[in-house]
Amino acid sequence: MSKNLTKRSEDYSKWYNELVVKADLAENSGVRGCMVIKPYGYAIWEKMQAELDRMFKETGHSNAYFPLFVPKSMFEAEEKNAEGFAKECAIVTHYRLKNDPDNKGKLMVDPNAKLEEELIVRPTSEAIIWSTYKNWIQSYRDLPLLINQWANVVRWEMRTRLFLRTAEFLWQEGHTAHATQAEAIEESVKMMNVYAEFAENFMAIPVVKGVKTESERFAGAVETYCIEALMQDGKALQAGTSHFLGQNFAKAFDVKFATSEGKQEHVWGTSWGVSTRLMGALVMTHSDDNGLVLPPNLAPIQVVIVPIYKSDEQLEAITAEVDKLVSALRKLKISVKFDNRTTHKPGFKFNEYELKGVPVRIAIGPNDLENGTFEVARRDTLTKEVVAKDGIETYILNLLETIQNSMFTKALEYRNSHITEVNSFEEFKELLDSKAGFFAAHWDGTPETEEKIKELTKATIRCIPLDRVEEAGVCMFSGKPSVGRVLFAKAY
Ligand code: AMP
Repeated sequence: MSKNLTKRSEDYSKWYNELVVKADLAENSGVRGCMVIKPYGYAIWEKMQAELDRMFKETGHSNAYFPLFVPKSMFEAEEKNAEGFAKECAIVTHYRLKNDPDNKGKLMVDPNAKLEEELIVRPTSEAIIWSTYKNWIQSYRDLPLLINQWANVVRWEMRTRLFLRTAEFLWQEGHTAHATQAEAIEESVKMMNVYAEFAENFMAIPVVKGVKTESERFAGAVETYCIEALMQDGKALQAGTSHFLGQNFAKAFDVKFATSEGKQEHVWGTSWGVSTRLMGALVMTHSDDNGLVLPPNLAPIQVVIVPIYKSDEQLEAITAEVDKLVSALRKLKISVKFDNRTTHKPGFKFNEYELKGVPVRIAIGPNDLENGTFEVARRDTLTKEVVAKDGIETYILNLLETIQNSMFTKALEYRNSHITEVNSFEEFKELLDSKAGFFAAHWDGTPETEEKIKELTKATIRCIPLDRVEEAGVCMFSGKPSVGRVLFAKAY
């Protein structure tokens, strides 16, 4: 198998698109902006889902499912949300086709099958869910209501790219209702922390936790918390968002509850989501010019074993050794594949697993049989070692953990070395061209300044970091006072 991947240093964007396709993660489809997720890519997504789902349940949430379609009048109810998503909605207007009399063999929309009320294909589900919550919530005893849904959504994006930005994407959306403002804020922060923990411990991606500025906030939210990651080309990527919705949706859908004192009050809401964009983040953070590099905690195959043999007898003897190793590894819950295909040469297989980012490759040949050894190769460092077969399963278990940790450390070092403090707009513009990454700068807090900076440089405020130190300064653009630095970057 020849890889012929474009190098990251030559054309990062091309490298990414090629890799996603060549590593069998996804491909473009016959529908504009919509992708086909292939089995290998879907297996990684399933591992992400399983872990996130476990974390949601551990924090008290249950899964449910709501309709794909939202009647227009329902969609309009929360005005800011509706306005924010209006420009990227798909709308169902008819429910039937008929034979076209002027065009034999073709179909046309049946004008007699016009819907009385148009249906919006959900770009997000607050409207349909809050219209349901009205019936589910009556008293303080019904709160908090902690629901998550795994679903697809549609946002008519103009510029799309596999995983990072597609017109239809898969995601989860949490929607919760609470009796008090404090509880709802606590929930939004908690879920941002769940996302950060998932990104760091499973995806091996360090993230900055922060809040969005007003102009980058989710339409209909009072506050948007986010996790921001840095890709290898120095561009930022919003990896997850968690919104404190105040009472906006409760008011729009008249969702009230009786307090323990018998008073009627509007409930407080949150919503939070991560999408298949995370797949793009995973690829862009770790992979190299040879292909994918997957963190062991999300790799569908953690260990692959390739036999090297000339005769059937050798393959038989190798298989006997490998069978023992496979069951020892499976006992330790390591996912392992023995690739004993006789139709492909070892070199082809090595290439394929390198491209697919399998964290550990074990090879065994006649010499190993004689010496009681295996050859163990790491995908992340591309290093090899000969390891004695006795106790190798523990060695592999430890190695997987080492790889997971060192991938995180490498990404963290890269990220930390790409946060630069800047103090003037001249310096900012210069560095944006020469050095990518996050730029920590003072900003006067106004949307006008933010917009002007965006216009002039294409860089946006990624977030106001939650752990920033208060520091009196002056805005790099307007010279007006500022209370602390925010993170700017060019972003996906
Ligand atoms: P939002 O509802 O806008 O806060 O988005 C929720 C999550 O979906 C965020 O993590 C976004 O990064 C992600 N997301 C938004 N738009 C897209 C898209 N077109 N394709 C993939 N993921 C997206």
